[in-house]
Amino acid sequence: MQILNHLDKIKQTPIYVIEEEKLIKNCELLARIKEESKSKILLALKAFSFTRALGLLSKYLDGATSSGLWESKLAKEFMGKEIHTYSPAFKDDEIDEILFLSNHIVFNSLNQLKSYKEKALNAKVSIGLRINPEFSSAPKDLYNPCARFSRLGVLAKDLSEEDLDGVDGLHFHALCEESAQSLELVLKELDKKFKPFLKKMKWLNFGGGHHITKQGYDTKKLIELCKSYSQKYSVQIYLEPGEAVAWQCGSLVSSVLDIIENEKKIALLDTSNEAHMPDTVIMPYTSELANARIVRDDLKEGEFSYLLGGISCLAGDIMGEYAFKKELKKGDKLVFLDQAHYSIVKNTTFNGVRLPSFGFLTKDNKLEIVKTFSYEDFKRRN
Ligand SMILES: *Cc1c(COP(=O)(O)O)cnc(C)c1O
Repeated sequence: MQILNHLDKIKQTPIYVIEEEKLIKNCELLARIKEESKSKILLALKAFSFTRALGLLSKYLDGATSSGLWESKLAKEFMGKEIHTYSPAFKDDEIDEILFLSNHIVFNSLNQLKSYKEKALNAKVSIGLRINPEFSSAPKDLYNPCARFSRLGVLAKDLSEEDLDGVDGLHFHALCEESAQSLELVLKELDKKFKPFLKKMKWLNFGGGHHITKQGYDTKKLIELCKSYSQKYSVQIYLEPGEAVAWQCGSLVSSVLDIIENEKKIALLDTSNEAHMPDTVIMPYTSELANARIVRDDLKEGEFSYLLGGISCLAGDIMGEYAFKKELKKGDKLVFLDQAHYSIVKNTTFNGVRLPSFGFLTKDNKLEIVKTFSYEDFKRRN
């Protein structure tokens, strides 16, 4: 991470720092996949709506996938290009503006389709329907849109060909941090359950959850799947990754405020897992830290280990146990890695904790402080 060369310039922590060079690297891979597979790739804004980088992303990608009015407005303002809006349920008082902003609209149920189809047709917005393939290898029910009782998408048994009058495309989202092999399994189910419907469509959206930019991802297989599906059903394929776009593109820098001891050494930081890295609590996982090792077994010779704890009052505000090559001291800066996606968009002022600033490290190595937050922001939200 380039940020490690700029820590001296950071006067105020916590701060998320996004690295342009890393984003470009991810985008170049996505652009190659687009080109070779002839599919279109959209940024899922819910994972990463960092406005400073959206102009850059829109140069490489075909546009954005939005989850409702606010994200569609953001996409219009900062990205341009295509806007595809999907929400589990749209609201009467927002639908006109959403249709005005969107190129595609994806409905979650036959009720919603019926309610808004005329409006969408009049607005000349391409209409899609989310389907539930009832198959997913998602790691956990929280991230499994195909689990029993799912509210996301229409089941094959509830769909008839007349329902799809006026509908141009089908959309599914069934993956979470998954491989091209997982996609292949979902597509097999799709073939089994939705074949007669697929034949009538102009486009097919494979949703997100493709871990494309992770090392070892089988891009060749993804390209083949997109191509073969596109040919088989004469459809335009869309992919809408979120996490994969900003994967490993930014970090959260925090400072050590105090060091105490209770059987183990504990370093208290000016950040919080609950408020600033919520996925480490929800997913859950332990964040990697620059220049340190997550302690999962015995310490090695010459290592110093610390529990890293947050600034909130939550007992569980512990990032994990880490081993360092030297002892920590007050004022040291610690860099949590891969905190771009699903961190900035999810942070909170829980416990009155200061919101991290946003930094952007440009490709010519300049650190911009893009946004800072103050007590006024906290007050307005409470
Ligand atoms: C969350 C979501 C995405 C993006 O998922 P990632 O796991 O971040 O790639 C895409 N489409 C829909 C409908 C989603 O809900």
